[in-house]
Amino acid sequence: MAHPKRRFLSGFLAAAFLTASAPGFAQDVAAAQQPAPITAPALVKKNVDVAAMTEWRHDIHAHPETAFEETRTAKKITDLLTSWGLEVHTNVGKTGVVGILRGSNTGPTSPSICMRADIDALPITETDGLPYASAVPGKSHACGHDGHTAMLLGAAKYLSETKNFTGTVYFIFQPAEESGGGAKAMVDDGLFQWVHCDGIYGMHDWPGLQAGKIAMSEGAITSNADEFKITLTGKGGHAAYPADNIDVIQLGSDIVTALHQFKDKNTPVEEGAVLAITMFNGGEAYNAMPTTVTLQGTVRTFSGATQDKIEQAVKDIPAQLAAKYGAKAEVEYDRDAPAVINSHDQIVNARQAASDVVGASNVTDFGRTMGGEDFSYFTQHVPGAYVALGQWDGKSKIIQLHSPNFNFNDATLETGATYWVDLVERQLPYKAPPPAQASTVKSASPSK
Ligand SMILES: [Zn+2]
Ligand SMILES: [Zn+2]
Repeated sequence: MAHPKRRFLSGFLAAAFLTASAPGFAQDVAAAQQPAPITAPALVKKNVDVAAMTEWRHDIHAHPETAFEETRTAKKITDLLTSWGLEVHTNVGKTGVVGILRGSNTGPTSPSICMRADIDALPITETDGLPYASAVPGKSHACGHDGHTAMLLGAAKYLSETKNFTGTVYFIFQPAEESGGGAKAMVDDGLFQWVHCDGIYGMHDWPGLQAGKIAMSEGAITSNADEFKITLTGKGGHAAYPADNIDVIQLGSDIVTALHQFKDKNTPVEEGAVLAITMFNGGEAYNAMPTTVTLQGTVRTFSGATQDKIEQAVKDIPAQLAAKYGAKAEVEYDRDAPAVINSHDQIVNARQAASDVVGASNVTDFGRTMGGEDFSYFTQHVPGAYVALGQWDGKSKIIQLHSPNFNFNDATLETGATYWVDLVERQLPYKAPPPAQASTVKSASPSK
């Protein structure tokens, strides 16, 4: 998750399930309320290899690699997937890896599923002194993508050993989520020309959500994350003679005010749009008016219509005000990751799998976040569901993503990997292959 700023989770509320599941509590209830047989469906357990996932995560954690430099991580993924017999494609979107695992009845009309983990680290110096601390100065897995990678590998190992499914599973290991370029690079590299899946699924560790819970919501769950830079050029000169100058500091201040007023008056409150001017740079001496000033900032929206409206204002308002001053305004506006839109059918599937693994009462509402997430480049092509995996142990101080001492909670590796496995086995239920087709199925191979 790139730059998560706000969280709207209900996960803080419900320590109830974990407390209620403790054996002592259950006995107390049984004694007090005769008889006590409220039976919930047994939670699905899979024999995923927790020890191996923990070892992989710690190794990846110790060797963090940032955007498009994930060569060691990609090799590790490639070697493991290959050792389990998957068809593996490397250098997809520079450093991405795709593993393909085929079950029974594989053919052009058989079902398929894509599951994605991001694999990159952040340019943040780690401070938590772990035994497997980052060995790379200035870089760390402060967003937990080491855990994402380990869980998807754990699911691949289990599914390759059991093959209790029909059709095709694509394991997508995506580089450079934090810079926002990795998913787009994979798509631009032709990913969906040879990967054909019915739905794509993603998962992110979520520090404020209790371990043992999975949160999700339908619709837009992250924002359109845009950035802009406004360069103002006036006439610099001695500050004692303002009439001789064109004051770009004053102009910039007017633009800041006008943009905020525009946003506030033209976007509905429920839209929750953000326009933040975060950098205002100019001037070198207290007694001299600068010639140029730059303003930079970000726009976050959930709807395309609001995004269009604010983008137009960011482009128009500086020019209109600059004209009054006799100054010049140049605007660069870039749309980074679009909003992740969770589709109805895929959320139904995700909710079913999550309920199997953690119980329906522990599947909570995610709401939406102003954070950006480039999983959206995949969901522009394939309907998807992106869910949050609880991390909080219920006791410790919650450490947010991108903090220098954030660390993925190993106790949740099993939950995440089991969710992946259950999702596959539910969506692609096993069917025995017809005798003629049983042994030599040749599937469409990618062009690369
Ligand atoms: Zn992340
Ligand atoms: Zn992140």
